[in-house]
Amino acid sequence: MSKYIFITGGVISSLGKGIASASIGKILESRGLKVTLMKLDPYINVDPGTMNPYQHGEVYVTEDGAETDLDLGHYERFTNAQTSKYNNITTGQIYNWVITKERHGDYLGKTIQVIPHITDAIKEKIKKCAEVSKADIVIVEIGGTVGDIESLPFLEATRQFRLDMGYDNVLYIHLTLVPYIKAAGEIKTKPTQHSVGTLREIGIIPDVLVCRTEKPLSDSVKEKISLFCNVRTEAVIESPDVDSIYQIPLVFKKQILDEIILSHFKLICKFSDLKEWERNVVSKALNPKKGITIAVVGKYIELQDAYKSIYESLIHGGIYNDAKVEIKKIDSEDIQKKGPEEFLKGVSGVLVPGGFGYRGIEGKIKAIQFARENNIPFLGLCLGMQCAVIEFARHVCGLKNANSTEFDPKTKYPVISLLAEQNKISDLGGTMRLGAYPCKIKKGSLALTIYGRTLIYERHRHRYEFNNKYRKLFERKGLKFCGIYPKKNLVEIIELKNHPYFIAVQFHPEFKSKPDKPAPLFREFIKAALEFQNSGE
Ligand code: GLN
Repeated sequence: MSKYIFITGGVISSLGKGIASASIGKILESRGLKVTLMKLDPYINVDPGTMNPYQHGEVYVTEDGAETDLDLGHYERFTNAQTSKYNNITTGQIYNWVITKERHGDYLGKTIQVIPHITDAIKEKIKKCAEVSKADIVIVEIGGTVGDIESLPFLEATRQFRLDMGYDNVLYIHLTLVPYIKAAGEIKTKPTQHSVGTLREIGIIPDVLVCRTEKPLSDSVKEKISLFCNVRTEAVIESPDVDSIYQIPLVFKKQILDEIILSHFKLICKFSDLKEWERNVVSKALNPKKGITIAVVGKYIELQDAYKSIYESLIHGGIYNDAKVEIKKIDSEDIQKKGPEEFLKGVSGVLVPGGFGYRGIEGKIKAIQFARENNIPFLGLCLGMQCAVIEFARHVCGLKNANSTEFDPKTKYPVISLLAEQNKISDLGGTMRLGAYPCKIKKGSLALTIYGRTLIYERHRHRYEFNNKYRKLFERKGLKFCGIYPKKNLVEIIELKNHPYFIAVQFHPEFKSKPDKPAPLFREFIKAALEFQNSGE
């Protein structure tokens, strides 16, 4: 039977609950346990797929094609858990499910209420995830902050869970903020006391407190928190600001959080350390030998979370190559207005990420042209590949005003377009090409050298495709189509002849990159960027 850890957050949002959850997963996994992690999101959307990145940040795509919260990205980067549609549930999904059953007559005669029907549905989904993943430990992160109206049904289900499953099988961890007030020169525990108080009103008594703090917590502060919050002193865990998020498992391990959890569950597990993680990830991330600047040209640049997995993958590529990656975030509209030179001079690599809609496209195209003409390593992802195709069509093949039908439905040269079968689709949610698809890599390509095998599986999230009508012309002009989805003959990878590293893909390699196992395209992109940098010295 699985054991369950529920992680709630208090005081303020953005304390890093996702990273804390993933780190707890990591330290338990290192003890030989199989873990999985879930995110419960209180919003009414069925999934974040239809949300603007400004609202939500990145939409993380799982292997089975679910569009999920970006915290699932942290879970997969820190642990071996492979998440799926069962690992992210939203209020919208729960209500949708209950109302569909009600219409079907499954509850005939009853009044459907938040308690017990909604809370039962939540509990059922959590148990389903445990069953599907066959995990020893299911870590359930509850979105939002304690005290929010909308997360109440999730917290109520969380409370009931211990009653249903038994005390020893459920553990509650509360992540809170212990602020340092400069003017008073003091650390304050009151917000934590209040937050735990609110949790207790709901009936949840936390077993462990993880305290986010700028300053170290003295023993007396820990004792005070312990006394007022009714948590053992050793279970008051300090979580200071760190230089690399990948340090957090080590921070927790040092405070024997794994032992505290295992003793609550009465589990005896093999002893373990995180030496490899420390050596191959943390110490390399903290002591880079080289430095490199990579430009990311996108349109949600000011938002920290919009390209989360891409930024992390660049860091992973840097860790592998002993380099600190400086990410220069460039708004494509700025390049559109002022040209690329001013922004791209001095960078050693250009990455154009995925996206939707016409805004900023012309700037991305200009950035790609600059990288192509100046031999700067280039990596295009999804929309980034589509823009590379448009750029090549316009400037190399002479197809004036070539475009994607997403941006110009009447273009004379629709080099990117919808497949005929997609024209019938009217719903926007969940109707893209989503999740992992096989891609066959051609012999003699750079992609084959990078991946080292001819069949790969990468994750997708897009509607539009390369228009095969133009393949022959493009090939003649020096573009290579090196990766194909065989069943439908769709273009997955393009490369440029006579360029050190110009590669673009219709999929999202960033969703499968880990700090100790960087996605091959990022690993080699950073390597090529370092070579480019050296060649200029
Ligand atoms: N807008 C493009 C499409 O739908 C690209 C999507 C993406 O980059 N994720 O095909």
